[in-house]
Amino acid sequence: MAEEVVSKNFIEQEIEKDLKEGVYDHVCTRFPPEPNGYLHIGHAKSILLNYGLAQEYNGTFHMRFDDTNPTKERMEFVDSIKKDIQWLGADWGEHLYFASDYFDAMYECAIKLIKKGKAYVCDLSAEQMREYRGTLTEPGKNSPYRERSIEENLTLFEEMRQGKVEDGARVLRAKIDMASPNINMRDPIIYRVARMTHHNTGDKWCIYPMYDFAHPIEDAIEKITHSICTLEFEDHRPLYDWVVKECEFENPPRQIEFSKLYLTNVVTGKRYIKKLVEDGIVDGWDDPRLVSIAALRRRGFTPESIKMFVELCGISKAQSSVDYAMLEYCIREDLKMKKPRMMAVLDPIKLIIDNYPEGQVEYLDVVNNMENEALGSRKVPFERELYIERDDFMEEPPKKYFRLFPGNEVRLMHAYFVKCESFVKDETGKVTEIHCTYDPETKQGIGFTGRKVKGTIHWVPKNEAVKAEVRLYENLVDEEKGVYNKEDGSLNLNPNSLEIRKNCYLEPSFEEAQPGDSFQFVRNGYFCIDEKDSTKDALVFNRIVSLKSSFRLPK
Ligand code: ATP
Ligand code: MG
Repeated sequence: MAEEVVSKNFIEQEIEKDLKEGVYDHVCTRFPPEPNGYLHIGHAKSILLNYGLAQEYNGTFHMRFDDTNPTKERMEFVDSIKKDIQWLGADWGEHLYFASDYFDAMYECAIKLIKKGKAYVCDLSAEQMREYRGTLTEPGKNSPYRERSIEENLTLFEEMRQGKVEDGARVLRAKIDMASPNINMRDPIIYRVARMTHHNTGDKWCIYPMYDFAHPIEDAIEKITHSICTLEFEDHRPLYDWVVKECEFENPPRQIEFSKLYLTNVVTGKRYIKKLVEDGIVDGWDDPRLVSIAALRRRGFTPESIKMFVELCGISKAQSSVDYAMLEYCIREDLKMKKPRMMAVLDPIKLIIDNYPEGQVEYLDVVNNMENEALGSRKVPFERELYIERDDFMEEPPKKYFRLFPGNEVRLMHAYFVKCESFVKDETGKVTEIHCTYDPETKQGIGFTGRKVKGTIHWVPKNEAVKAEVRLYENLVDEEKGVYNKEDGSLNLNPNSLEIRKNCYLEPSFEEAQPGDSFQFVRNGYFCIDEKDSTKDALVFNRIVSLKSSFRLPK
């Protein structure tokens, strides 16, 4: 039997230890987004990690909306989040939950803590509370309300619930330790009064639990075993453990932290993306220049490529930033064998074959993907007038330019050799057409003349071509300057992040193409039909990625 060479990441090691020691007899993980924005590539990492672990250990994966904060949450985001997670292939089965369904249970937990003398109602103002909290180097001071009796606390908390207390006038705090070196343990607030309508529970509640209190209860109610979160919650773990212990949950979950995924020179923060959308700088949350999951999907990334990317990044506790080029590497790898390689001209110039019979069309057999026979072949019409790329011709070529120039011969991909005889310029000096002759003996796959040419260029038949719009992308931010402006914290935008080419020509084989389909355009990259703007009569393509890469997979 082959030995297992894949080494386990630290979370797998912890889980296996727990299973072996009998701490848990199964594995249950969850993904708990707040429905206050669209998911991005970083969330994809968390989703695939949690779902992957549940799969690996034959456990269960829960999808839970952490909707305990009514101010920022919207149903629009619930739907988009579900769609994105399904697209990534993480299947929650029947395990779809809303944290707001646990408000009653959370309230019961608060009552329990009060009855145990572990929580109290505090009247300090927010400002006073800050003063009493102390600093990293100084312990805090006990609140004057800390020693209220259990009876008084129960009455006051009941008044909070009934709406007899002004917003912010009183809070419920956990009674832990004002001298703790960990500030999170200095009697944190667990409930506040806030008159807000909740999208799920309406006006039933005017008190809402704080995240650090609600989250461990949500996990414990669902019998999550491993509550995996990002590193910024490491200092909150003692509080997490305190809550599940004092609320007396049996077999409580444990929290494990890993480092967030950061992409170098890429905007991921919800706050910044929201601003770009609101300022109209991008075309919504799914603008293909963004790295929200919706944007990556629209751009033409596949779930497989994102999985590959997340695996390559690995799981660790060390904060690091990954190059966008690695994501590009993954999509190229994924599409390389799967997609047909078609000809498309993005910056057209007319090429006329003077000795090719006028009105004649021949249909050339072209293999769709030389590396994958299963993709079959197609017929491409060839005729007297073609389009080629403008930069495949030069009037005065530099050394080592092997494409078309007066007197030079090149191969037209999948077709014949052509030799440039002359060219025509308009009054501004711009070349408008190139005249060639072809050699019928050089038809690909048939003739062998012993003659060789150094350059091969692609083309499309002018009369049969399909016209399309193609959108080329660069990084949204100016990489030289970095993402954020040091002075005011604004974004350093790249003015060339979107280039729209309206006059591109494709082979006629694209007539049947559907939104979302993707292709390789030889020499130009991988392209995807835009799901939002493309129509049958006016095709719009997004460039997913070019073919060239500076990225090398580390050995
Ligand atoms: P952001 O601040 O980027 O908007 P968030 O943390 O506020 O993200 P949540 O909805 O609270 O978004 O996150 C849901 C889950 O996704 C959490 O468990 C969180 O730790 C995880 N997560 C968020 N950002 C990343 C990231 N960059 N890398 C890995 N996991 C992440
Ligand atoms: Mg958050």
